[in-house]
Amino acid sequence: MTNVMVVGGGPAGLRAAESLARFGLEVTLVEQESYLGGAVARHRYQVLMPHFDSGPAVLDRMVSAVAENPRIHIRTGSRIGQVEETDDGFQVEILGRETGVESVRAVVLATGFTHFDPRRDTKYGYGLFPDVITGAELEEMMASGPVTRPSTGEVPKSVAFIYCVGSRDRQVGNTYCSRVCCAVSAKQGIEVREQLPGARLVMFYMDVRTYGLWEDELYWRAQEDAGVVYVKGRVAEITQRDGRPVLKGEDTLVRGPFEWEFDLVVLAAGMEPGEATAELAAQFGIEREPHGFFQQTRPMENASVTSHPGVFVAGAASGPKTIEDSVMEGEVAAMAVLRYLDSKVTV
Ligand SMILES: Cc1cc2nc3c(=O)[nH]c(=O)nc-3n(C[C@H](O)[C@H](O)[C@H](O)COP(=O)(O)OP(=O)(O)OC[C@H]3O[C@@H](n4cnc5c(N)ncnc54)[C@H](O)[C@@H]3O)c2cc1C
Ligand code: SF4
Repeated sequence: MTNVMVVGGGPAGLRAAESLARFGLEVTLVEQESYLGGAVARHRYQVLMPHFDSGPAVLDRMVSAVAENPRIHIRTGSRIGQVEETDDGFQVEILGRETGVESVRAVVLATGFTHFDPRRDTKYGYGLFPDVITGAELEEMMASGPVTRPSTGEVPKSVAFIYCVGSRDRQVGNTYCSRVCCAVSAKQGIEVREQLPGARLVMFYMDVRTYGLWEDELYWRAQEDAGVVYVKGRVAEITQRDGRPVLKGEDTLVRGPFEWEFDLVVLAAGMEPGEATAELAAQFGIEREPHGFFQQTRPMENASVTSHPGVFVAGAASGPKTIEDSVMEGEVAAMAVLRYLDSKVTV
């Protein structure tokens, strides 16, 4: 029986594993955490942009499809150890509760992303001021209860969202756009408005990249239905006065400085390569692109192809992606594995 390994149990890896198993392959799914679902599970997204689907319902469907498939052997709490290339694939050591070595014909790397840590850019005061949080922390807060100020537990009367934190920023070394944060922030603005009908909600942006069909569902809806105010300007510094964050910067449309106090500040922190990306690239002999994500070597033809035959990528491991795109790439990777194995496959 042909065995394929999928590394990473987020949306991309779940989809790749499910599709491969449906085509009759035995799949080993290796996930470092004790649970499946990737960032969606970790941060407990309740509502997904762009269509406002229920996060738990989508996650449940994705995880159940994998957990209920007897051809998928789930290895949570596990990571990749030594990798050796063989005549027809790889011998891969799995480190975890039951350490062992597996022979696999092909591998799909779907190890996702990590969040930019805003502590790396001290101007945001993240880690110093309790009422400055990240978008992921806002997701977790909304999953557990109402939106509150972490410092006091009070309901905020004003919330600022700051775009492009750790993205499009040469000083922190991330020149690229993280693609999802404009839309995620707009979605969060709409959600926060439902909880806080009287609050002042302001987005501080460089550009708004709610591209394609998201413009109506997110950008205009946030402004016209949810009364979210958009201010074009870069925040230069966050300080604290009388226990409240103060944003200083320049409104680049009216060309004037601003200094504005808020009860809560949400940093739209960008996506960076997952921590294991460099190590896995070296272990499986594939290239990385200049920002450190796995390199898609023939993206115009197939998004999952890498520089090494038999090694495929899917999802945010090759660059910032939405869930929809990650799931689609999981499917693409599964199809690419089948094409790669082609007539050699015995199912
Ligand atoms: C605050 C925030 C909100 C978001 N909200 C939305 C939204 O509403 N809609 C939307 O479309 N997108 C949203 N996104 C983007 C979304 O999180 C990603 O598109 C999606 O998680 C990518 O899926 P993935 O499977 O590629 O990666 P991930 O979700 O990152 O999953 C990767 C998995 O691989 C595992 N892994 C990593 N390294 C290893 C290793 N070495 N060994 C084993 N396992 C490993 C990880 O533990 C993880 O489970 C949001 C992002 C952020 C930051
Ligand atoms: S999606 Fe928006 S907030 Fe995120 S990096 Fe791109 S422009 Fe900035």
